[in-house]
Amino acid sequence: MTDWAAEAARLDAADSLAKWRNEFLLDESVAYLDGNSLGALPRATSARIEDVIRREWGEGLVTSWNAAGWIDLPGRIGAKIAPLIGARPEEVIACDSVSVNLFKLISAALAMRPGRKVVLSEPGNFPTDLYMIDGLVQQGLAEQRLADRAEIEDALDDDVALLLLTHVHYKTGEVFDMQRLTEAAHEAGALVLWDLSHSTGAVHVDLEEAGADFAVGCGYKYLNGGPGAPAFAYAAFRHQEVLQQPLSGWMGHKSPFTFVDHYEPAPGIEKMLAGTPPIVSMSALEVGVDLIAAIGVDALVTKSRALSEFTRAAMAEVVPELPCVSPEDPAARGSQLSYRHDHAYELCQALIARKVIGDFRAPDLLRLGFAPAYVRFADCWRVVSELRDILDSGEWRRPEYAARAAVT
Ligand SMILES: *Cc1c(COP(=O)(O)O)cnc(C)c1O
Repeated sequence: MTDWAAEAARLDAADSLAKWRNEFLLDESVAYLDGNSLGALPRATSARIEDVIRREWGEGLVTSWNAAGWIDLPGRIGAKIAPLIGARPEEVIACDSVSVNLFKLISAALAMRPGRKVVLSEPGNFPTDLYMIDGLVQQGLAEQRLADRAEIEDALDDDVALLLLTHVHYKTGEVFDMQRLTEAAHEAGALVLWDLSHSTGAVHVDLEEAGADFAVGCGYKYLNGGPGAPAFAYAAFRHQEVLQQPLSGWMGHKSPFTFVDHYEPAPGIEKMLAGTPPIVSMSALEVGVDLIAAIGVDALVTKSRALSEFTRAAMAEVVPELPCVSPEDPAARGSQLSYRHDHAYELCQALIARKVIGDFRAPDLLRLGFAPAYVRFADCWRVVSELRDILDSGEWRRPEYAARAAVT
């Protein structure tokens, strides 16, 4: 048997990103393997929010829209996210939730392909992605078509207006070949919208190289923007002139402060805005994005792969009875591993009771996320060894671990 604890200690000592963990407020005793659901709290966030509230809002009052640069926050944060996803600064904006941005961009894409109504996606995509298509179906504006991943290319025909896929699957961690599918969609005359919620800040993404049309992504996962942080939207520069999104609110107007009756969209990515940006949340998001940008995607990806490879090898040796449903090749998966067990929910609760936090994804997956900015190899070993212990002792059978809370 490998001495995994010693191996984890050796890898932590050699980890060039180890110093970044201190930039987060994380209890030493907690092994946090759920940063892909809610990123950890950056140490600098509290002070930043205190300053936004007391000085910018409390003292500056309404003058802070200009003096503190509030009005520029969505574009400023978007420009900082851009290099993380292979986009240009003027192609990304922070706003709304992923769901709302999906609605805006699916609608916009449908309008750009008159005569085509099909939005193609895969069964088992993240629910909100499919639900937002449903909403447009209800309005008579779209038809939904679902094809299994291996059959997506065959399902692309001249009825398809838009291919909507999530780059890293939230359950299995499988990664789509963004370049190949984008090309296939374009060959069929369709546009492509990538959901980067589980990608941004953890895996390589190059929207420009892939020739992508649109993308959305999440602010509260690997970007550490805080619960319910604003999301982001990307529209390739070449589409920005014709792009028309349906939530034509005043913040997306070309000159909001002329207060005219007729809506005229801003010429650039600002047209994706609808209402007033949530400045407190935006300010927290900026702290998280600054941290991830400072570490850099290449270093994050390298460490993410090392963490998940370590965990996969240790699990295979120490807890071999749990099958891994994530791809074996680290380049073919996101920053996570998912394991199947009939009582995955109970296992997850028993782990949490031991301060090892992963999550459960219905119906039977234990999901472990490796946020490379702060996860230690020792945390990875903890989950494996505690899991062994919980299974051997039968501790997971305790009735309190079977009670389901509202959020799982
Ligand atoms: C987390 C996540 C979302 C979140 O959507 P919100 O509207 O911001 O809650 C959307 N899509 C995917 C694939 C996700 O993983």
